[in-house]
Amino acid sequence: MTAADPQSESEPESAVETARHQLERAAAHLDVDEGIVERLRHPTSVHRVTVPLERDDGSREMFTGYRAHHDSVRGPYKGGLRYHPEVSEEECVGLSMWMTWKCAVMDLPFGGGKGGIIVNPKELSSDEKERLTRRFAEELRPVIGPMTDIPAPDMGTDPQTMAWFMDAYSMQQGETTPGVVTGKPPIVGGSYGREEAPGRSVGIITREAMEYYDWDVEETTVAVQGFGSVGANAARYLDDLGASVVAVSDVDGAIYDPDGLDTTDVEDHDESPGMVSGYDAPETLTNEELLELDVDVLVPAAIGNVLTGENARDVEADMIVEGANGPTTTTAERIFEERGIPVIPDIIANAGGVTVSYFEWLQDINRRAWTLERVNDELESEMRTAWEDVRTEYDDRDVTWRDATYIVALERIASAHETRGLWP
Ligand code: NAD
Repeated sequence: MTAADPQSESEPESAVETARHQLERAAAHLDVDEGIVERLRHPTSVHRVTVPLERDDGSREMFTGYRAHHDSVRGPYKGGLRYHPEVSEEECVGLSMWMTWKCAVMDLPFGGGKGGIIVNPKELSSDEKERLTRRFAEELRPVIGPMTDIPAPDMGTDPQTMAWFMDAYSMQQGETTPGVVTGKPPIVGGSYGREEAPGRSVGIITREAMEYYDWDVEETTVAVQGFGSVGANAARYLDDLGASVVAVSDVDGAIYDPDGLDTTDVEDHDESPGMVSGYDAPETLTNEELLELDVDVLVPAAIGNVLTGENARDVEADMIVEGANGPTTTTAERIFEERGIPVIPDIIANAGGVTVSYFEWLQDINRRAWTLERVNDELESEMRTAWEDVRTEYDDRDVTWRDATYIVALERIASAHETRGLWP
């Protein structure tokens, strides 16, 4: 594949291809046993289940669900459950690999898992979604548990879905088991600050990166694509720090104010769908134009594969911090590397979500809730430690931020495999 090949530049990548590519890049910098790298190219297991659902009209419909387990050398599998028409086995495997690296870079005692159901959740009533979730929990019960595999919300699922899932599991176990899932409402063992955590960590990591490059936060302009859970929390965190958030967007378009937007006045996608693109701002832009704005920091926080071979040369930001999972294709990454634009990768930037999930799991096991202040303090400390580990690799080796991040993760996973050994 060459940069001159327009066909290859516009090719979308599957999550598993991207995950394997990143594993190989990191492995090239480390003295890791080839057998261990080969093992990490594949999941430990993938569970496929059929989930029968009684629709509201009394008819029965079958849905296919998956749970991929990638690697558990450092602890139980951890990762989201997605309800989406495009869920596939391959996607679950790729995303479970990303979770392995994400947990390792944060030094959490978890491995990577991911799962979901092939379904359009918008076509389900609330009762149907509840029945589907409860039956899915039952079908997965043999392969999940608070010490084996701990799901969490993802696209199309939310805290209520996790509460149903936890209830179904607990009913069958005969004991309330809040630690079987994270991302629950606080009243049933969820953690304060979990919802804000991925966006908050994007803000913390952006702040650390600005400090690394000696930028004055008060002089920094930021554009955020996707003003949803991740994007809005990141934008508001950076706004509070004194940065000027000049553009934000939702699926319908972007708003732009060169003097900086009041990010608390713009309601996020959940608070009021359509509010972002409908906001009374000095200028409106398309999402494509937002990505090409001349700003200091660009935070793509909506969906994957938005920075591609097609637009990477037109991006004018001086730094990219990935809020969404996988917003930068491999081709775009190479172009940014050539152009000297640092890209701080998703697996550290938005890892606040899984980090506060870990706090939630600890709270569930100990039956003791933490205050929001404690959650945020501990998140700050975990993010700084992870950033320092990555920065050390970045400074010591001539690599990209993404490679440095994967090197930290792979070193930990490989060394755990070496130390535990292969049984039998
Ligand atoms: P969300 O649904 O709360 O918000 C998504 C935002 O992106 C909305 O403003 C939506 O209008 C906008 N959007 C959707 N499609 C778009 C498109 N084609 N172009 C431009 N904008 C579009 O979702 P979220 O939870 O904030 O997740 C955003 C990303 O962050 C996803 O990649 C997700 O996987 C990742 N992520 C989320 C979490 C989490 O816990 N919420 C954790 C880690 C990573």
